[in-house]
Order: sequence, then structure tokens, then C-alpha cells
Amino acid sequence: MSRSAPIYLDYQATTPLDPNVRDAMLPFLEDRFGNPHSEHALGWDAAEAVEDARSAVAALIGSAPGEIVLTGGATEANNLSLLGSAKRTQRRKILVSAIEHKSVLAPAAVLAEQGFEVETIPVQADGTIDLECLAQLIQPDTALVSVMAANNEIGTLQPLQEIGALCTEVGALFHTDAAQLVGKLPIDVAAAGVDLLSLSAHKIYGPKGIGALYIAGPVRPQISPIIHGGGQQHGMRAGTLAPMLCAGLAAAAQKALAEQANDEAHTRSLKCRLIGRLKDGLPELKINGSEASSLSGCLNICIPGIDAHALLMTLQAEFAASVGSACNAGLIEPSYVLGAIGLSPDEASASLRLGFGRFTTIDDIDQAAALICEKAHRLSHTHAAE
Ligand code: PMP
Repeated sequence: MSRSAPIYLDYQATTPLDPNVRDAMLPFLEDRFGNPHSEHALGWDAAEAVEDARSAVAALIGSAPGEIVLTGGATEANNLSLLGSAKRTQRRKILVSAIEHKSVLAPAAVLAEQGFEVETIPVQADGTIDLECLAQLIQPDTALVSVMAANNEIGTLQPLQEIGALCTEVGALFHTDAAQLVGKLPIDVAAAGVDLLSLSAHKIYGPKGIGALYIAGPVRPQISPIIHGGGQQHGMRAGTLAPMLCAGLAAAAQKALAEQANDEAHTRSLKCRLIGRLKDGLPELKINGSEASSLSGCLNICIPGIDAHALLMTLQAEFAASVGSACNAGLIEPSYVLGAIGLSPDEASASLRLGFGRFTTIDDIDQAAALICEKAHRLSHTHAAE
């Protein structure tokens, strides 16, 4: 990234494309243009990219390649999980956590309109779900429980294994939106007791427009497709797949697996440094969510008395970050995630999310911390003078 570009601290919104991923994609814009579903040499060549994507994703999450359905992203994977499982169940209850991404909450709302009883699992101040509450809410009539693996605003990690065990007891399906976790921390779907897992390539240095849904082999008959057409992907998701995007997903997933430990060590040390610098400059700063159990590349901070949106707008030439979730950008309303962990609307509007990863440097972190501290001081003096 050129030095004149703003420092990029919005890795939860999307990650830069890894150069290896880009190189893997380019041949599909040129000679390898076949339709991966065609029965001839060019088609078979393109189909290789599709199979590579399934194998690489499977290796990353501990599944079999045949359990991976390629989708247009995590949004589609989440919709397929909720709407597709609801079509095939006699059960009437669906549980979702209070801090799910809108691509889970919106299909859940559609199901509520169709007569399903949709209930919200509350979260605690650190963002983890209240397991006791889940144990009470979950019933023999529960069709599906959807709890994200890692939150996109505060980075909190959820106790997947414990949730999986509760689901197994009543025979409910367990779906996890792992768009933010996959590729950053190891996950094994069988060990976690997950039946359905959503992920997205552009959160792991891959291209936008492709993701995947893991559907555990035994539960496949319980999921109905939501996109119908030419019967591709064994009828689970019709539509011609984009080999270029599949090649990108394959390369991104392979690199994520190879670099997971390095990336994690890198982001962990950056986070430690960023917290240190920010706390030195702004002793009143608070960290939102869990310090102990969260993504190392995500830091959500509250600077009491500051309008975080105004702060980011005045710094937009220098660095890019978000308040709340990027998918709500444009709508300046307090984040429901921060509300769910107990922040007041004032505290939520004084909060910003800093996301960093593979390509973030120590210099980026030091510069961003200095800019935030300086601007926050200036803004608070302006307020004091008013
Ligand atoms: N779930 C989570 C947790 C996310 O962070 C995102 C991306 N903002 C999505 C789902 C949607 O992913 P996609 O952009 O691939 O549709």
C-alpha cells in the first residue's frame, strides 16, 4: 500500500488482497475462462479452481471438501443456514445471540414474520453469551441456534464447544457465523460441535464476492437450498461459480492456514503496543468487550466525552477506521452490539473500532495511536471551551 494512502485500520470490514491471492486469480481473467460446470477440457480446468477452494476451506476448518458449499459470501451463507434449515424443520423455535451480524438478524426476522418463535440470547458485559440463559432458552422445540464465533465490532470469542454441547442435548442445529474467526484462530468444526459454519474470503485477504457454508454431512438433508436453477453444487446452490473468485478463496485459505500462527503473533504484539500507546496518551480510555478472549486484530475503544464519528472524519486523510460496524455506515445510530454489552448511547458514540492484520506495521500503529491521542485531546478542549 502506498505511503500516501491513509493507514488502514479497518480489517474487520475487509482485508487487503494478498499479492499471492491476486497472482492465483489472474489466469482466470485470461486463458482459464471456462465454465466450471462444462463437460470439456476448459470446463474441467476451471472446475479445478472450484475443487481447490473446497479443499482449502475444508483444511482450514477440519471438514471434508464435500461438506463445503461455495456462496457469494458470508451473508449468503448465513441466509442459507437460517432460511434453508427453517424450510425443512417441524420445530418452531430459533435462537440468535444479541450481537449477531445483520446477515443473521435479518433472516431471523423474516422467519419471525413466518411464524417462528425467534428469541435473543443475551450477552454479558464482555460480549460472551450467557450460557445459563442459553441452557434455559434451548428446548426440544428449538430448530437452530446461531451464535457467531467472533464478533465483528468488539472481537469477542464465543465458547463454541459449550454451545455445541447444549445444542446436541436437544438435537438443535448449531450455526456459527465464523467470518471474523476463520483464518485467524484455529477451528475444528467437529470438536466444536458445529453443524453449519459461514465464512467469507474477503476477511482473509481474499476477494470480495465469495464465501462458503460448511454443512456437516449428516445434517445436509435438513437444509433446503434457497437459490434454485441449474442444479450446480449438487442442487444446494444453483448458479455458475466464478473460478477467479474460487482460485482467490483457495489461495487465501491456504495462506491463512500456513500463516495463522505468524499472523496471530504479529497482531497480538501490535494490539499490545496499540493499547499501551493509547492508554499512555488517554488514561481515561476504556476497552469495550473482552480483553482476555477476543480477536487479536480487533480493538474497540471508548474515549469518554469524544464524538468518535467526528474524530474519524477529521482524521480521514490520515487513517481509515470505523465506528460501530461498517455495514451500518451511513446510518449514524448507536451500535446495537455496544448497547447489548451495556454501553449507554453516549458511550457507544464515543467508541471506535481499530482493526489490523497481516500488512499492518509497527509504524502504522504508532502513528495511528499518536493521531488519535492528539485529536481526542483537541476535541475535548474544543468541547470544554464551548
Ligand atoms: N458476518 C460477519 C461477522 C461479518 O463481519 C460480515 C462482513 N461484514 C459478514 C457476515 C458478511 O460477509 P460478506 O461481506 O461476505 O457477505
